[in-house]
Amino acid sequence: MFAINHATAALLLKRRFPRVPMPALLLSVQALELLWVLFNALGLERTTTEPHVHSVSEIHLVYIPFSHSLASTLVVAAAASAVAFVATRRKDFAAALALGVASHFVLDLVTHAADLALAPGLAHPLLGLGLYASAPMAAFAIELAFGVFCWWIYRGSKALLAAITLFNVANLSLFSAAIRGPEEALAGRPLAIVGLVFAQILVTLVVVGVLARPGRRLVPSRSGRPVTRARTAPASGTRN
Ligand SMILES: [Zn+2]
Repeated sequence: MFAINHATAALLLKRRFPRVPMPALLLSVQALELLWVLFNALGLERTTTEPHVHSVSEIHLVYIPFSHSLASTLVVAAAASAVAFVATRRKDFAAALALGVASHFVLDLVTHAADLALAPGLAHPLLGLGLYASAPMAAFAIELAFGVFCWWIYRGSKALLAAITLFNVANLSLFSAAIRGPEEALAGRPLAIVGLVFAQILVTLVVVGVLARPGRRLVPSRSGRPVTRARTAPASGTRN
C-alpha cells in the first residue's frame, strides 16, 4: 500500500487510543517501511525494476524478508510494544504501537505481489494478493477508499480529506501503464525508488499529523452537523 494510506491507518488508532500521541502512532504504521528504506540502503534487501517502468507492477521487491515478513512484523511489533510499555507503563500505548506495526503488514498483503515471506530464510510460501498487477484500478479504488474510511472514522477535517484524496490521485499513474508519469525515470534505479518512497513516507506522515491535529478535527454538533473543534479543546477523547 502507498505511503499516504499507511499513514491514514494512524487515524483509526488515534480514534481507538486517543491518549496515545499521534507522532508515535504515525511512526508505528510506517516502521516496517522505514526499515525497508534502511535495509535497501544498506544492501540487506533488494529492489529491481523491469527495463521500462510504466506502473508499480514493474517494480519488484525481490528480497524484503527482514522488513516485510510475518515474523519480522511480529518482532518489530513486540519490540515497539515493549519499549512503549517500559517507557510509559501504559497498556494502551503498548497495544496501539503493536497494532500500528501490524497494520502495515496486513495492508501490504492486500495489494503487494507475492513478495511477503513468513520469515527470513523461508522462500515459500510468499504472500500477497497481487492486486497491483492483476487489478491495478481495483487496488487504486481500495487504497483511496481505505484512506477516506480512516478519515471518516476519525472525523477529520476537510483539509485532511483533500490531502488524502490528492496524495492518492497523485499516485494514479503508478497504477496504470496507460497513464504516463514520472515513474518512467525509475527504471533501473532502485535506490531512486527507495529515496522516493522515503520522501513520500516523511511528507505523508507530516501532512497527516499536521492536518489531524485536534484543532482541525471535526466533531458532530448537537444538530449532527460537523463543526470544527476549537483549537483550545483538549486532544480527542471522544471515545474510550
Ligand atoms: Zn510496506
